[in-house]
Amino acid sequence: MRLPAHASTRGAGGRDRWLRWGVALGVLLLALGVHHVRRGFIRAFFGDGGAGAAPSLTTGPASRDVDATSRLRIVLVDGLGADHAQTLPHLDRLCRGGLDLRVDTGFPTVSLPVQHALWTGLTQTQTGVMYRIAPLSEPPDASIPARVAGSIAVAESYPEIVHSFGFSRARPSATPMEASAAEAWRTEGFAVAAREAVTSSARLVFIHVLRVDEAGHAHGAASEAYARAADWADAFLDELVRADADAEPHTRWIVLSDHGHRPAGGHGGSEPSIRIVRACVFGHRLPVPVEPTSHALHLVDLSRLVADSLELRPHPESAGRPLETALARPDPGATLPRPGLLRWGVAAVLLLSGIAATGWAARRRWSRLPWWLVVAYLGVVAIHGFPTLSHPMVYPPMGRDMMLGALPGLFVLTWSDLRGYADAPILDRVVGHTALVVALALAASTLCGELGRLVGLTPGPPLMPIWTAQASVLLTFTVVGAGGLAVLLLVRRG
Ligand SMILES: [Zn+2]
Repeated sequence: MRLPAHASTRGAGGRDRWLRWGVALGVLLLALGVHHVRRGFIRAFFGDGGAGAAPSLTTGPASRDVDATSRLRIVLVDGLGADHAQTLPHLDRLCRGGLDLRVDTGFPTVSLPVQHALWTGLTQTQTGVMYRIAPLSEPPDASIPARVAGSIAVAESYPEIVHSFGFSRARPSATPMEASAAEAWRTEGFAVAAREAVTSSARLVFIHVLRVDEAGHAHGAASEAYARAADWADAFLDELVRADADAEPHTRWIVLSDHGHRPAGGHGGSEPSIRIVRACVFGHRLPVPVEPTSHALHLVDLSRLVADSLELRPHPESAGRPLETALARPDPGATLPRPGLLRWGVAAVLLLSGIAATGWAARRRWSRLPWWLVVAYLGVVAIHGFPTLSHPMVYPPMGRDMMLGALPGLFVLTWSDLRGYADAPILDRVVGHTALVVALALAASTLCGELGRLVGLTPGPPLMPIWTAQASVLLTFTVVGAGGLAVLLLVRRG
């Protein structure tokens, strides 16, 4: 007896459906797995790494030594960008009367690690203290404040940072204050304590102003609140310098910032507007020409100036150079970490494999290409701007802002699936839609060190200018693309 003609197609159709659903489940598991990997990746930013290579800063013929000073006053205005620092009248006047510098604070641009570099003379990469938020349990080796008897630090807030570096005395106490005491410290206590410290006989005094950074996080560098906080810091600086009133100026002042802020708020990345800050040295004379050959130096060079001013030997592994040498050899960007040749090689192989697989699946049909990825990336850039570690969107575990920005990409993915893959085998659909995004995510993860960390080759946090933020975006896109494709596979036959 002959079987009815539709019996075998029904059997084949059933098998196809099971295959399709099985593959959909696999793609969904890929999305969930990548989501999980990305969460671990973000968490790994904040751990310390091992010791890394010293930056290669060029040295030069021995320059004159910097005069030591009996009084060094350092004021750090946290989060004050160089452009904004240019508009502050008191700071500007004081800078013009001394050395007006641009300091490269290195990468990442995060407060505690940047201070770590200032007080040790070692870059963030060298110490592995890269994105540390938690205080240090003891001061780092050869920390400058720990080597100056009677050193004083006064912090407007986040006192755990100054308590990390071994000052003889740091105020306020590191134990959290009651709300009323904290309020009194903010409105009055901080300014009084800072004035007292600056006018004391201590050789090293450090004042950490934080309201500009706080306004930057809450409202952005383009806001009124940020400008108001910066104006307050400017007037406060003038008040401190006047209060010192050292008739015969033995006091050397260094005023600097640790990083700028995005117009909409945020820091951490390596953009010049965030990383390069205004720093000024005035007061007790410095043996450099009034018109130096450049105004640019690295934070480790400024740390060397601090050590020289206090007659301390710099850390033996510090690459910081004497002031005159540093100004003569700016070496732009020399303290930034960069991916090595091996990482570039692996990333290139991964990317080429992704391109080859995509080309195979596209079979010369342009509607099969993963345009969705281009649209998703452009969507994120159009809504949020170019992704860097200064952008708050790259950190949250779900990556919701990036997902919303990528949403138009999902429409393009659906269109491409309907038009380009109307009757295509399931393997073509899966490879065509996902091979490139997976390859790009793997390549960016390789360049920032995440792949090495996952396989136990790289001990440090996966932090690299440009590539860490791109990896965060591309891992999110892999979740979005694979999730979208899983739904398409469930609802539509090839
Ligand atoms: Zn901050």
